[in-house]
Amino acid sequence: MLVRLDGADTALLHALDAPHAGAVRTGMRVRVRWADRREGAITDIACFEPYDGPVTHEAVPHDGSFPDPVTSLAAPARLEYTYTAGRAQTRYLDGLARREVLGERCPSCRKVYVPPRGACPTCGVATTEPAAPGPRGTVTTFCVVNIKAKGLDIDVPYVYAHIALDGADLALHARIGGIPYDQVRMGMRVEPVWTGDGRHPDHYRPTGEPDADYDTYRRLL
Ligand SMILES: [Zn+2]
Repeated sequence: MLVRLDGADTALLHALDAPHAGAVRTGMRVRVRWADRREGAITDIACFEPYDGPVTHEAVPHDGSFPDPVTSLAAPARLEYTYTAGRAQTRYLDGLARREVLGERCPSCRKVYVPPRGACPTCGVATTEPAAPGPRGTVTTFCVVNIKAKGLDIDVPYVYAHIALDGADLALHARIGGIPYDQVRMGMRVEPVWTGDGRHPDHYRPTGEPDADYDTYRRLL
């Protein structure tokens, strides 16, 4: 169902726990049912449920005072005014030409980034340690594209997905092919299909392996 939260101007798509389809009507009031364990992600919303009771949670403007104010924070930042491939991406692009997917591991938090950007955005340190995630991966989430892009010779609808390569801590995104668009699913195992000139994966296709367990990729959603 589409639900417009009180105070919002647009609707979001989510599941509604209703006994049967006849119990649902346009205009009905619903409320969030929270997950048993919340961790600050969209998955904290388990679903919506019908609710006809009073509004129990009025928004109250914040008065600007905090019991434990944050007085300083470290915010490492890096800006490049002229875009160049740089060390990390040169290595990554050279690897693609050999049909190798190369990432880099942060020496501090041990996360593997692919494509590498040369530094860890969390720790602010250079990621110089090479890593070789993939080439296979898992579809974490995806969307169905129904609008044909200008200059792109791909029939719609098709699926564009976030893919967590095996061993990577960041999902990359790519088109899914080799399977009807309505059969793509979260957890599906995929592998790259390279372009004829081998410069980059043209799309990813199913490997035929059993789907990955949700817990193996949920942190990468
Ligand atoms: Zn790090």
